[in-house]
Parts: sequence; C-alpha cells; structure tokens
Amino acid sequence: MYRPTMAEIDLAAIRDNLGAIRACIPAWTQVIGVVKADAYGHGAARVAAVLEQEHVPLLAVATPDEAVELREAGVMTEILVLGHSPPDFVPFAISNNVTLSTDAHATTVMYAAAAGAGTVRLHYKVDTGMGRAGVLADTATDQIMRSSALPNVDIVGLYSHLASAESDLDFTARQTKRFADIVRDVRAGGLQPAMVHLANSAGIFTIHAPPLDGVRPGILLYGLPPAASLAQACAVQPSLSLRTRLEVVKALPTGHGIGYGRTFITGRPTRMGLIPIGYADGYPRSLSNKARVIVRGHFAPVVGRVSMDVVAIDVTDVPAAVPGDPVTLIGQQDGLRITAVQLAELADTIAYEIITGVSKRVPRIYVDRRP
Ligand SMILES: *Cc1c(COP(=O)(O)O)cnc(C)c1O
Repeated sequence: MYRPTMAEIDLAAIRDNLGAIRACIPAWTQVIGVVKADAYGHGAARVAAVLEQEHVPLLAVATPDEAVELREAGVMTEILVLGHSPPDFVPFAISNNVTLSTDAHATTVMYAAAAGAGTVRLHYKVDTGMGRAGVLADTATDQIMRSSALPNVDIVGLYSHLASAESDLDFTARQTKRFADIVRDVRAGGLQPAMVHLANSAGIFTIHAPPLDGVRPGILLYGLPPAASLAQACAVQPSLSLRTRLEVVKALPTGHGIGYGRTFITGRPTRMGLIPIGYADGYPRSLSNKARVIVRGHFAPVVGRVSMDVVAIDVTDVPAAVPGDPVTLIGQQDGLRITAVQLAELADTIAYEIITGVSKRVPRIYVDRRP
C-alpha cells in the first residue's frame, strides 16, 4: 500500500453495536444482520464473519450476487436475498442455504418450477405502503395461501418494509397494522412462517407493537442513527473511519486560486495542504469548500473543489502541520470528531450514501479492540 488513504473498520464497534441493538429488543426477537452493499461499505465478508461468531441467525443482502460472494468467502449462516432473484438462481440458493424473497404468486410459481427436485426457502414480501416490491396488502393473504400450496417451495418468512419509520409515526402505525392483519390471516389459514419481520433500524424504535420474530438493522449495526431524531435512541458507535495523511504543504500568496474552477481564492498568505483522496474514493465533490478534516488537533477546512484524486485543505492555522501528518476525514483523531452524518448534511444527502459510497480504491483496514 503506497497511498496512505484507507477506511479503518472497527470490528469491535460492530460487535458492540449488535449488543446494543439486542439490548433494545425483547429476548425472543432475533437480529437479522443487514450486510447488503458490501456491509454498507465495511466489507461484507469480514462483517458477516463477525455477525456469524456472534450467533446472528440470518444475514440479509440485496442481490443474489452478494449472497454468492458471502458463500465464496466461507460464510455459512443462512442468507436472505431481499431484492429480486431470477429463477436461474434457485438451484444455487437451494444448495447453499440461501433464502429468496418472493413478491407474488406468479413469481413463486416460477421459483417452484426452477427448484427441480429440491425445495426453495422463501420469505414473502408484502407491500404495506412502501410502494416498491412486494405483494399489495389487499391481495397478500390470498396469494400467500395459494403459494403455500405449491410443491418445492417452503414459505418460512413473511416481511414488509417501512417507508418512513424515522419521520412519520402515523403512517408507520398504519403499515404496522396492515402487516399484523396479514400475519393474523395467514396464520389463521394454517401457514406458520417462523420468521416474521418488519423493523429496519428506525422501526426498532418507532413501531409501537412488539418487534415480532426478527428486526433488520443495517445502519445501526454500523453505528449511525437512521435519522437525526433517533441519534440518542440506542448507544451505538460509528465503525468506519476515513483516514489519510498530508502529502504536500505549500505556501500560496494572497489572491491565488485553488483547484478546478478557481472556486477558492486565497484571502491571505496561505499554507495549503494536499491530501490524496478525491471523489473517485467516494469523498463527495459536493463537499467542495464546505467540509473540514482533522489535522494535528485542529479542524482544517477543505478549500476549492474536491477533485477526482486530491483535496486541498487550509492549514495556515495549523502551523506545525507537515507532510506525513495523519488526517481524518470521518472519525475521531486528537480528541476531535467528524461524523458521516455531518458530512451528509453538508453534501445534502444521508449518512447511508456517504458510507456506502467509499469506493473500491480505498483499502479497508480492520481493527478489533478486543483480543
Ligand atoms: C436496507 C434494508 C434494511 C436496513 O435498513 P436500515 O435503515 O439501514 O436499518 C432493512 N430492510 C430492508 C428490506 C432493506 O432493504
């Protein structure tokens, strides 16, 4: 590794966050570990291995290829694919303990046909108001019951997804009620799916009903609140830090432009520092002239445009700064802290996009505080 830019992943923080989530839910409720999008940028194989050690019974990914990646990495825990799987994935799923989501009777018929002599395990996804995939609530019970009569499929789960668990408690309550009615009707019809689940990270705190058999936290496992209003809800700590080192320090006279478009003009004799990270690493260009970084116990502002490979910072007020100094863009250093949530606000997005956006060019370095 010749470039010092890296994402530092704290596996002990993820383990602690899992413990904190478990402390927030009843003892009978299981955590389904959401490790889609490369475990929100943390590296799915390593995170899944930690969750497996901690006896998380089910991992959730978005795509069939993400499930394949985990199996190739040696992860054994059952995996649920939340998104769509094509029927030709069914044989792999059957022989590799991968459970698929189905969203309609017609889809389930296709999966049954693709199962050959095997049995494909399915979770039925119900649309209680999200308006994306899933069988619409009004016909859900009928379709689920018809699907359950098919050979070669085993409906082992039932779930729905909340549209605005962090912001609209009335709508969340309506979705919760619709889902509970379907669960009741399906059970009355004689189907007993073992894993009924509804809550994402926000829903763990905002659903006013028992959290069912499972909850599906993603962002909370990685130590970030699903929304600012829930920042205090559960004692979690961020598990991803973005770090690099100062590469160049250079004196610029007053009136000198910095970077593409000359969007920053020095207003004083300036010591400009360059750090080897850019938007191709997932540091958003929209942070140009807005964000700051930590150097030698100070916040140093980003000056000029964020380029593809480099960012300029103003270290005039950090006179001791020299090339080689550690620089933190997300995380803690020298008693100071920058969070993905803060960067998201500056970049007009959400923390989810900041952490999943850290690109492949950035090596992930794993640390684990515990022995
Ligand atoms: C991504 C996802 C989650 C996790 O959401 P968080 O807000 O990160 O907790 C849960 N359920 C489904 C269906 C998802 O797609």
